[in-house]
Amino acid sequence: MRRISIFGATGSVGEQTVDLVARAGGPAAFHTVAVTGGQNVARLARIARDLRAEVAVTADPARLANLRAALDGSGIEAQAGPQALLDAADRPADWVMSAIVGAAGLAPGFRALRHGGILALANKESLVTAGKLLLAEAARHGARILPVDSEHSAIFQALGRDPVEAVERVILTASGGALRDWPLDRLAGAGVADACRHPNWAMGQRITVDSASMFNKAMEVIETREFFGIAPERIEVVIHRESVVHSMVAFQDGAVMAHMGSPDMRHAIGYALNWPRRERLPVAPLDLPALGRMSFEAPDEARYPALRICREVMRIRGRAGVVFNAAKEVALDHFLAGRIGFMAMSGVVERTLERISSDFRLESDAPDLDEVLAADALARIRADEIARAVSGGTAGRSEQKAG
Ligand code: NAD
Ligand code: MG
Repeated sequence: MRRISIFGATGSVGEQTVDLVARAGGPAAFHTVAVTGGQNVARLARIARDLRAEVAVTADPARLANLRAALDGSGIEAQAGPQALLDAADRPADWVMSAIVGAAGLAPGFRALRHGGILALANKESLVTAGKLLLAEAARHGARILPVDSEHSAIFQALGRDPVEAVERVILTASGGALRDWPLDRLAGAGVADACRHPNWAMGQRITVDSASMFNKAMEVIETREFFGIAPERIEVVIHRESVVHSMVAFQDGAVMAHMGSPDMRHAIGYALNWPRRERLPVAPLDLPALGRMSFEAPDEARYPALRICREVMRIRGRAGVVFNAAKEVALDHFLAGRIGFMAMSGVVERTLERISSDFRLESDAPDLDEVLAADALARIRADEIARAVSGGTAGRSEQKAG
């Protein structure tokens, strides 16, 4: 029986993974080793019981007693804290879903590669912050990383057996996010609720806001560069409002292969779960006559500065990805707390990239995971200083927004 673990099981990707595992037979078809979550221990306990996991881990040590109580009588172990997440990753599994959000997902996924199985990677931050190290670790242990971000699953599938050398360019599709039709001059005043109204995809809150700012797409451009080894100038972003084409690969012979389907993450999650086979998935069939037409447009970088910043990050490479991600997460925290405006996020990220170069050389690679995490920690401090300075300047307006 296949041994699986699900990191971030209580999140949006995690729950959809749990759903697919349950539909595929649950405990009758899979041996679930570990499931992990954060604050919501009731949900975590339910998942652990449904899948009959060996161990359930909450990231929050303060919730351990609650988790224990919720698992009482089940025989399932309860654990908590960052070290427990690593211990869970050390338990051998054949297939591991990495669906923790943010840089916190890096270390457990990295550890899980040691088993030489499959790492289904939804946590895009892993590739942006430590792509080189992650791929080297996978190669060292004969592990395989399967991309779960819908665009990268699409590229992976569109590539098929063709070598990356045959690729002319990769075309990443973007919905444009919740604010795509807002007039440019109103964007600075957009609030959290505005940025969270995603037109097509139901996702976690953080990624939905990142989608409106296209920081999510910027991350995905870097992800494409890191995971597939495709040169930055061959990666293009187009706005595709319908979110039906999940991404495309244009080959040197002029052929363009597109991966299409309903906007449902279970396409990508299910593909990774069933790989290398294809199985029936509970996704809505694509109804082309009902869809009628599809549109494509070039994104405006004045509206989406993140798309410009990610080019600079790829040019510098080294530790620029980890700083970019950390600064983006901090800027997002400040936006979600109502302290800085929507358009101020990109300024915080850009200034952090500039500022940090007086702390260390951005161009040089991090030699190991600890160095990546150290760069991440320092970048967060710098980004926070910068964001606080920004919020001081616009406090009146952001307080209004927060209310
Ligand atoms: P989410 O916020 O819905 O869930 C995140 C999960 O991580 C939860 O289980 C939460 O408890 C856990 N978590 C949060 N902080 C943690 C910490 N510090 N330590 C340990 N666990 C922690 O997020 P999501 O939308 O499911 O996204 C998960 C990952 O997948 C992200 O990297 C995201 O960018 C990526 N992704 C998501 C989607 C989507 O449709 N939601 C699509 C593509 C990629
Ligand atoms: Mg995506």
